[in-house]
Amino acid sequence: MTAPLLEVRDLNVWFSTVGGSRVHAVRGVNFTLDSAQRAGLVGESGCGKSTTILALLGLLPPTAQYSGSVLLRGTDIMADGEASVRSARWTEIAMVFQGAMNAFNPVRRIASQLVEVLQVRGRLPRRAAQDRARELLEIVGIPRDRASRYPHEFSGGMRQRAAIALALACEPKVLLADEPTTALDVVVQAQIVELLRSLCERQGLALLLVSHDLPLVAQVCTDLNVMYAGEIIEHGSVADLYHTPAHPYTRLLFAATPDIMDDSELISIEGAPPLLSRPIVGCPFQPRCDRAFGRCEAEAPLLKKVGGNRLAACHLNDKVPSDNPLVVKP
Ligand code: SF4
Repeated sequence: MTAPLLEVRDLNVWFSTVGGSRVHAVRGVNFTLDSAQRAGLVGESGCGKSTTILALLGLLPPTAQYSGSVLLRGTDIMADGEASVRSARWTEIAMVFQGAMNAFNPVRRIASQLVEVLQVRGRLPRRAAQDRARELLEIVGIPRDRASRYPHEFSGGMRQRAAIALALACEPKVLLADEPTTALDVVVQAQIVELLRSLCERQGLALLLVSHDLPLVAQVCTDLNVMYAGEIIEHGSVADLYHTPAHPYTRLLFAATPDIMDDSELISIEGAPPLLSRPIVGCPFQPRCDRAFGRCEAEAPLLKKVGGNRLAACHLNDKVPSDNPLVVKP
C-alpha cells in the first residue's frame, strides 16, 4: 500500500505561559491527505486549527513544544528537527496566511518579492525567476502589467491572489490555507474559493483549508475534520457530516450556521470550550452537550470508525453497530 502524501500522527502542541503553566493546545491530532484531496479543518476560535497547521511547518513561537510525526510520503519531516522541516517548507508544503497584506513587504513590489522566493528557494536564475513570477501571477488571475505594483496598490482580493501565487512559487504538493478569505467581501470570497478549487484540480495539489466558515469550506472541500478543544472529534465527507453528523458538536455547529434557504431559528452552543491549561477528564464537550450521559463525565471517547471512512469521538456511537453509525439529524 502506498503511503499517503501527508500523514499527521499523534500531533501534540503545548505552549508555556508567563505564569508558568502549560497549555495543551493540540491534543493527539491524526489525519491524512492525498494528492488532489481537499479537506477542511473547522471549529470554534481557539480550538487549535491554526496551531495545528503552523506546527506542520515549524512556524510556532519558541514557547511551543511539539510531539508526534508529520510524514510526507512516508518520511517524517519532524524527525531531524528544524533543518528537515525547513527543507520541506514551501517546496513540499506551503501556506496561505490569514491577512494577505501581512504576507508581503509593503515597500517592495509584488513581483520582486516572488522573484526573491524563486531565486532563494527555487534556485532559479534571475531572468527565469522574473518570467516565472509573472506566469504565477497570471495563473492566479493577475495580469502581467500589474506585477510591478506595490501591495497597497492591490485590492484585498488581488493581494490574496498574490499570496496564493507566492505559496505556489516552489511547486508544493500540499497547500495549507488559514482563513484565506477573512475580511474579503462575499463576491471576492467566492472567486478565491473557486481559484483554490481549480488549482487543486488542475495541479493535483492537496489542500487543507482552515476556517470557521462552514458554508465556505463546503464549497471547496470534499472532506471535513471537525476540531474541538485541540482534538479532531469527527472526520468524514462534507455531505455525510452535514446530513448525518455522528457527533453532537458537529450537529450543533451546522445548526448554528446561517442558511439563506432555511428560515428556522439559529441556535447557539451554550457555554465555552474547556480551559486547555487544565487536565480534561471525560469528554471535553460534556458540559455543553445536549446528549451527555453518565459515562461521558468519566471517560474520554476515542476517535473511532463509525462506518465507511467516517470517524467520530462520541460514546453514543458505541450503542449502535459499527457499520451503522449513529445518525443524529440536524
Ligand atoms: Fe456528548 Fe457524551 Fe458524546 Fe461527549 S461522548 S459528545 S458528552 S454524548
